[in-house]
Amino acid sequence: MPVAIGILGGTFDPPHAGHVAAAVAAHEQLGLDEVRVIPAGQAPLRTGAPVASAADRIAMCRLAFAEHAWAVVDDRETRRDGTSWSVETARELAREHPSARLVWILGADQLARLDRWKEVAALCGLVEFAVLSRDGSPTSPPAALSSVVRLTVLDAPPVQVSSTALREALRRGDSPRNGLPLGVARHIEERSLYQA
Ligand code: ATP
Repeated sequence: MPVAIGILGGTFDPPHAGHVAAAVAAHEQLGLDEVRVIPAGQAPLRTGAPVASAADRIAMCRLAFAEHAWAVVDDRETRRDGTSWSVETARELAREHPSARLVWILGADQLARLDRWKEVAALCGLVEFAVLSRDGSPTSPPAALSSVVRLTVLDAPPVQVSSTALREALRRGDSPRNGLPLGVARHIEERSLYQA
């Protein structure tokens, strides 16, 4: 059997229970050997830089996934200059693991915008996708891509949490317990992240 590698890209500003749920579901349901958690330097479809530094986001990802030995936090995108293009990351991983099955894990909100990703046809040739429902977004790809996207819809309950909502709660001075892994909550407190 070829090695199966999941890829969970994102800004992880901060990482939360939705990210962990997506990775766990993909790992279990697709028999993945490992899941690479890859924080973006600068995500393409976002205005504004991440709030927390790359070093903090990487540290928080390690804490969020600490109990999952199959999760590997991979800092390659934060070491690259400029926008972090998923297709470049997929090309690198395909070169490094030529016989591996690569599975890009994403939330339905991102699947709905897949047609806006750079060189998406090339990306679809390199990876298959696994999607977790989120906020009522459809779990099917945009119509223009339906013939090229290889997709598994993960069977897991939606997790209603977002980094934006967590940052807003922290800025208001709340200590959100729901959705923030304990180690991540501690790191945020120790480093006084996301305060007004
Ligand atoms: P923000 O609120 O800042 O936009 P986010 O919560 O969407 O951030 P990202 O780091 O941008 O987090 O997400 C990385 C990946 O994880 C994306 O594919 C996203 O769809 C997915 N994801 C994030 N939160 C969830 C969730 N609650 N359920 C399912 N997938 C999620």
